[in-house]
Amino acid sequence: MPNDPSNTVPNMPDKNDAKALFQAKLNAMQETFKVGLPARLIEIQQIWDDVQTGADASESLVILHRLVHTLTGSAGTFGYQQLSHDSRALEILLKGLIGHEGANFDESSRQIQEMIYSLVEVARSGAESALSQQLVSKLDITESKNHILILEDDKELNQLLTLQLHHFGYEVASVETLEDLTTSIESFHPDLILADITFPEGDFAGIQAVKSVLEKRTNVSDDLPVVFISARQDIEARLQAVRAKGQAYFPKPINISALLNQIREMTNRFESEPYQVVVIDDDPALVSLITFILEDYGMHVATVTDPKLALDVINRHKPDLILMDVHMPWCSGIELAQVIRQHNNLSRIPIIFLSSEMDEEVQFQAVLKGGDDFLSKPIDVNKLPKFIQSRAQRARSLSSLMIRDGLTGLFNHTYIKDAVETEMNRSERTGNEFSVVMLDVDFFKKVNDTYGHTIGDQVLRGLSHFLVQHLRKTDKVGRYGGEEFMVVLPDTSLEDAVSVIRAILENFGEVVHHAAEKDFHVTFSAGVISSRVTQEVAMMLESVDKGLYKAKHNGRNQVTAIEHVL
Ligand code: GH3
Ligand code: MG
Ligand code: MG
Repeated sequence: MPNDPSNTVPNMPDKNDAKALFQAKLNAMQETFKVGLPARLIEIQQIWDDVQTGADASESLVILHRLVHTLTGSAGTFGYQQLSHDSRALEILLKGLIGHEGANFDESSRQIQEMIYSLVEVARSGAESALSQQLVSKLDITESKNHILILEDDKELNQLLTLQLHHFGYEVASVETLEDLTTSIESFHPDLILADITFPEGDFAGIQAVKSVLEKRTNVSDDLPVVFISARQDIEARLQAVRAKGQAYFPKPINISALLNQIREMTNRFESEPYQVVVIDDDPALVSLITFILEDYGMHVATVTDPKLALDVINRHKPDLILMDVHMPWCSGIELAQVIRQHNNLSRIPIIFLSSEMDEEVQFQAVLKGGDDFLSKPIDVNKLPKFIQSRAQRARSLSSLMIRDGLTGLFNHTYIKDAVETEMNRSERTGNEFSVVMLDVDFFKKVNDTYGHTIGDQVLRGLSHFLVQHLRKTDKVGRYGGEEFMVVLPDTSLEDAVSVIRAILENFGEVVHHAAEKDFHVTFSAGVISSRVTQEVAMMLESVDKGLYKAKHNGRNQVTAIEHVL
């Protein structure tokens, strides 16, 4: 194995080399912290001198307490446990003195000075542990995750699920009996298991079988997510599913589009839009470590070390989550959280406080004043990314309930219309052209009348998934009305948008839809416009609608490009 990085092929970095690089970066950050330590301790000593001799002792004491508090938090995070421990002792002592300078000051002076000397000594002896021993980096996770194993004894349902998942691009292996489970996991290497609960062997036999197979797997770093499906709705069944590490539970009859959304979320961990996190902490070393760890896990991080700039950064990045220090100069994290909560559009972003604060009262206040949770420093770098990811995921899925359409999982009318506005603003800044598509299913009333409303719904869900699968991640697809859809394509010319939608129409027209009596095909008509034609949102929407009408009028199953406002 080549150790020299220049020997590796650029497009295919060796996994071990990449890991070594990751390790090297972590080591470098720990080294930076180490190099900065003497200066931090000198500053602590200087401020302590100010406390004793300076004009404003009480102000200096507050600064000293903050500096020591910051050291407590970051030292432990960077692998200096003893330093963190000793620093915390000093911090507690200092905190007790704030506001009571007169009384026991003289008694404590010697003790404080000794503790500072001892911090210097402990810092000199170096870190106790390396940062990265057990850090699971995303490099450990295999990329394309589209193998799904279905365990279901109901033959028809098994076939239906297999067909549907296959149609949406998954590789599927289907198993009808519990005996075949182990062998098919070994031969198929699924990325996800979809399992029924009740089998001839027993009411919970499906759960037990999956559980025992998962327990036998030796490679624990490689989780195998499980989704249970069952006609059982009771708490007992759901609880058993949770105990077997089931990550989702779908009652029968299964809502296929919801199931597909869930599977897509669980298998595309690194393909879906990355979580955006804003980190606010006045300690630059800690901020860069957190940034590095979260970015390595696939998240996007924006940082703020000066709380005055926090609102700007939050507004610019619209994060899924905010990680914030409690103690900062100029204003506290608790105050800043209250300011953030004053903004209606920011009031739902979870705020996780980061602090070496041990005081329960402060933690309680922090949560009371708008925080959602508390993470204690020193931060465990092994746990941080998973914790943040699960919080961000939850926040995103809650907010998606408000912007998604229930039947199709697409953006709803309000959201997609706003998206046109947002994209127009962006396009004015960047000068890039973007396109908007309005499309409507042809003769949809006939589908409902001939095959029933349920089949009609299924067609709408099918088209929704088809659009999402065939467009880019950055394109936005919304349900504009009953059987009418809108797509916003950023950075796309009119010509490109038209040819993309034409290709989708051609492919979708070939999809076979199944109804009880017979199979059938469905087409749609569409109008396409771009920001080159008009920069007025209202005019754009009016014209694109007219373009759609023109496509209908000219015989349907076609796409009209709008070159001039109509
Ligand atoms: P055209 O080609 O001119 O668009 O004809 P069409 O039949 O598609 O258009 P029309 O507007 O006459 O009918 C649309 C139908 O779509 C009527 C409405 O009942 C049905 N529809 C709207 N929303 C839903 C839905 O959520 N589910 C189902 N199954 N049908 C819906
Ligand atoms: Mg069954
Ligand atoms: Mg229609």
